Amino acid sequence: MSDLKVLIRHDEIAKRVAELGAQITHDFAGQSIIFVGVLKGAAIFLSDLARQVKLDATFDFIGVSSYGNRPSPKQELKSGWDSTGEVKLTKDVDQSMKDKNVIVVEDILDTGLTLTFLKKLLLAHQPRNLKIAALLDKPSRRKLPLEGDYVGFKIPDEFVVGYGLDYAERYRNLADICVVPRQ
Ligand code: 5GP
Repeated sequence: MSDLKVLIRHDEIAKRVAELGAQITHDFAGQSIIFVGVLKGAAIFLSDLARQVKLDATFDFIGVSSYGNRPSPKQELKSGWDSTGEVKLTKDVDQSMKDKNVIVVEDILDTGLTLTFLKKLLLAHQPRNLKIAALLDKPSRRKLPLEGDYVGFKIPDEFVVGYGLDYAERYRNLADICVVPRQ
């Protein structure tokens, strides 16, 4: 797709991720953290963020998909994803989160359905602390009241790709975050 438009450049992303890492380092000083990355979109954000956190840390990953009602990528681009709220777990975490400091790392907070589902699931582990780190946030799309604790950038209601985010599995490896124009 040649008409992608850069929304957030890679150097701006790096600067903001470093700030978030410093904030987490400060907030959890002297403690350990488990980063739980939401597959696949958060993989790049997690790997950059974790290297900016100067604390003892481990990684885990969790996978989700929506129940059958996610439109085709083309449709999603046109009208957004209006899920009915059914989120399905495709990969659970590998370890107990009991009494641990857990930071869920997500690429983008949109309607809030995915993270509401994941928060409930992870709270059942009885962690000491559960925080949400989201690189991007589209507050205007929210359906459930949920805020990230560590948010990179608030963005308008646009469909974005790059830095882990895909369009039909492509563009995850773009260094910048780009808007896909809605035709
Ligand atoms: P939520 O459950 O908050 O509505 O949606 C979160 C998920 O929707 C994200 O993890 C991501 O997979 C997808 N999503 C929402 N907005 C965008 C977007 O602008 N671009 C891409 N590539 N995915 C998005």
